[in-house]
Amino acid sequence: MDFKDYIRVIPDFPQEGISFKDITTLMQNGPVYQQSINELKKMVEHLQIDVIAGPEARGFVVGAPLAYALGVAFVPIRKAGKLPYKTIQADYALEYGQDSLAMHADAITEGQNVLIADDLLATGGTIATSIHLIRQLGGNVVGTAFMIELQDLNGRAKLPDVDVFTLTQYP
Ligand code: 5GP
Repeated sequence: MDFKDYIRVIPDFPQEGISFKDITTLMQNGPVYQQSINELKKMVEHLQIDVIAGPEARGFVVGAPLAYALGVAFVPIRKAGKLPYKTIQADYALEYGQDSLAMHADAITEGQNVLIADDLLATGGTIATSIHLIRQLGGNVVGTAFMIELQDLNGRAKLPDVDVFTLTQYP
């Protein structure tokens, strides 16, 4: 299956020059959404994953079903100020803009194997920051998984020491 057939591309969103890859159209098709998660599962099931971490908000719609399919834990990585308990926090730059990410201080225990999941790898800033937070909590990042990779933005260069698994790629 070519998942690109189900991803809607929106020019100049959220600002001019950005070609936004919209996964809501993929998720509107139940069997295709299910297959996308099943294929990611096949790519990562050889890793000894204890926990999947997903950044808000589209990391939840990839990471949570993947965690369910693998029977492992899911923990959210959220924008600063959203999590109710004690947190750790780090700043990061987006493809468009800047923000802070946070995790609960007890989300991961020392030595757990963590896979990070998100819908899309662009510049890699979100995931590099997520890796930083997880390592700060003592987690061992065993890989990263995405539905989409934007290759020209070379996000992999920011993730030199982790495996990257992607379902579909755009230039
Ligand atoms: P990065 O930090 O790798 O530059 O950007 C990736 C993050 O921004 C992901 O969390 C992703 O959800 C969001 N993002 C950036 N560009 C797009 C896009 O074209 N489509 C979607 N669905 N998300 C995007």
